[in-house]
Amino acid sequence: MTPTSISPTSSSSVPELADRLATVRGAIADAARDAGRDPASITTIVVTKFHPASLVSDLADLGMRDFGESRHQEAEPKIASLARLEATWHFIGQVQSNKARQVRQYVDVIHSVDRESLLAPLAGDPRDVFLQLDLSGQPGRGGVAPEGLLALAEATAGTPGLVVRGLMAVAPLGAEPRRVFARVRELSDDLRTIVPTADALSIGMSGDFREAILEGATHLRIGTAITGNRPTPV
Ligand SMILES: *Cc1c(COP(=O)(O)O)cnc(C)c1O
Repeated sequence: MTPTSISPTSSSSVPELADRLATVRGAIADAARDAGRDPASITTIVVTKFHPASLVSDLADLGMRDFGESRHQEAEPKIASLARLEATWHFIGQVQSNKARQVRQYVDVIHSVDRESLLAPLAGDPRDVFLQLDLSGQPGRGGVAPEGLLALAEATAGTPGLVVRGLMAVAPLGAEPRRVFARVRELSDDLRTIVPTADALSIGMSGDFREAILEGATHLRIGTAITGNRPTPV
């Protein structure tokens, strides 16, 4: 214990970050081995939402290259302030239609394409995108229902510049993650009847990345397990 109190907005020290990162990397390697997979085939995106840009710099010093943000208002200035960093930026939050054109300017990959109205504003020079599935059965939290997936896939693949990489999903609260991710993998087979190269799976967060790796995750979106608790959003 440190004698000084930690304010809710303070970030982790670099040694604390390095420790948690090593633990998560070890757990990813274990899960990959259990799944008979090469850990190098799995990209770990550190979700840095609500954290200051300095935390991203610290993580970059520790060798991380992929970072995820979920809110446009926060992400735009943060990413601009880190322009010197060699990083790949992933947008993982709900995209507001009137902000989509701006979001595509400053990120490399968008994980949350979930409706056709986003496609025209997202058109342009090449961007990798994931189609976000909603498996909660409760519309409104983001994601396309499985019934709408193939139509969205066709429309996205037909949009200039958009490269469909695969599917993104969040296991609904209370659901068994392994079952949810198995369903995502099944739907990935369907997606590949439309876009044969769209074999990536953006599944797995701090609490369920092991299950995601066992079901074929290629992109993990891990926040708190690496960063520690998020500061309260302002
Ligand atoms: C915040 C967030 C994450 C990371 O969550 P943790 O539980 O902190 O790992 C992953 N995916 C999405 C879509 C998020 O919004």
